[in-house]
Amino acid sequence: MPYPMLPHWIDGKNDSAPSTRVGDIFDPATGKKIAEVAYADAAQTDRAVGAARRAAEAWGQTPITRRSTVLFRFRQLLADHQQELAETIALEHGKTADDAAGEITRGLEVVEFACGIPQLLKGGLSPNVATGVDLATMREPLGVVAGITPFNFPAMVGLWMYPVAIACGNAFVLKPSERDPSVTNRIAELWSEAGLPEGVFNVLHGDRVAVEQLLEHPDIKAVSFVGSTPVARHIYQTASQHGKRVQALGGAKNHMVVLPDADLELAADGAVSAAYGSAGERCMAISVVAAVGEAADGLLPLLKERVEKIRVGPASNPESEMGPVITRVQRDRIRGLVDEGVEQGGALICDGRSLEVPGHEEGFFIGPCLFDQVTPEMSIYREEIFGPVLCVVRCAGFEEAIDLVNANPYANGTAIFTHDGGAARRFQRDIEVGMVGINVPIPVPLAFHSFGGWKNSIFGSHGIYGEEGVHFYTRQKVTTSRWPDPSQRGVDLGFPPGK
Ligand code: NAD
Repeated sequence: MPYPMLPHWIDGKNDSAPSTRVGDIFDPATGKKIAEVAYADAAQTDRAVGAARRAAEAWGQTPITRRSTVLFRFRQLLADHQQELAETIALEHGKTADDAAGEITRGLEVVEFACGIPQLLKGGLSPNVATGVDLATMREPLGVVAGITPFNFPAMVGLWMYPVAIACGNAFVLKPSERDPSVTNRIAELWSEAGLPEGVFNVLHGDRVAVEQLLEHPDIKAVSFVGSTPVARHIYQTASQHGKRVQALGGAKNHMVVLPDADLELAADGAVSAAYGSAGERCMAISVVAAVGEAADGLLPLLKERVEKIRVGPASNPESEMGPVITRVQRDRIRGLVDEGVEQGGALICDGRSLEVPGHEEGFFIGPCLFDQVTPEMSIYREEIFGPVLCVVRCAGFEEAIDLVNANPYANGTAIFTHDGGAARRFQRDIEVGMVGINVPIPVPLAFHSFGGWKNSIFGSHGIYGEEGVHFYTRQKVTTSRWPDPSQRGVDLGFPPGK
């Protein structure tokens, strides 16, 4: 029996043209292939961008209140289908359905923010800046913009981008991850149901072939990317060279600093939740605990006790707290890194390498791993593992912990656990990281703020969603106007002209 084939979504419908290249979609919990996905070629990419270009002009001219009405309807449809979307994500990604529903909730928040687009695009007017002269600032859409998204949040990361871009009056071409692409087609149908005109939202599936074409396409005006750092850097460089506006968010190695005065039970709860939720495949996952002074000896048993209780299993089992990782290759890579951690002197306190889930022996499972005595030279510290591995680095003092975090090339998120307000305040000021949590392990900003790290975790000047998103997807126009008044005739070479 042939596998179901997921097509592109172009101009408001499934694309019926046959694809010469296809990819496999797996259920990571069983390790079995479950479907295929079309991989875009040059002609398909051109058609998707062409459909977006044709739609962009009319959509950009559509009254803002009508655009916002479509957003409100889309918001309701997304909420109504949250469970169904979560199950689609869980099947292809492997995360639990609850966790998948959570990513829809975070996406909904961005849609809700974008519903307020009439307020966000109000512009500014300064009347009578000189005699009879008015000055008005407004923001206009860019035209066609593209998004390229990672596997780990197959719905949420796209939802960080296109509700804002579309609300601003742009048309969007999304290239989701080829690993778990199905939820995006369902979301495209919901856009259609919400009354979004054909061609305003298009989905192009595939791999780097499609991405390279989008980066060079003359009709794409801006590119939003979220994924690993090497690819983010490449996207930023290539799309910039082709004259596009780019925001490219990369990988992470997020540290949680625990001071000796912290509530260690709370810190252990936070660290374990943030390290192993979604099998560590979150860009804001905590992967390093920097335990200061005697905090380490108090914290380690609390971490171990919690890690040993994590129930690993398929999303289909409601008891599961942590699912498999995304591919067999990634599972084997994580095992290899844990092996290296042991060889390089890390103390492996919890070893999930050989975990088997009964009935799911071919699934891409690896159990939670916990290391103590990690040092910055070890590969488990240097690499973004993106799996269920937590490293504890022991720091002699607070200063050393701050230096450790600031020396890391990644700078997405970080957290401090302490009761000392002065220490927290100093951490917030001195730490060179984009998103900071104080007794909050995963400090993801809500949609009315903006998301973005520093250093190798982002390339480009704008964070994603929030007002940064509105600015990214629009360009400013400033108009200075004066209505003819004969009393003001006369040449004046002064600068500024006489008032
Ligand atoms: P990835 O970089 O492999 O892929 C991301 C996207 O880029 C996918 O759509 C993929 O098809 C495409 N792609 C992959 N290789 C490419 C290439 N050579 N040229 C052009 N396009 C290419 O990332 P992933 O494995 O899907 O996701 C995990 C990574 O994403 C982790 O590094 C994680 O930290 C990061 N991430 C970051 C954030 C953030 O906000 N900073 C959020 C989520 C995920």
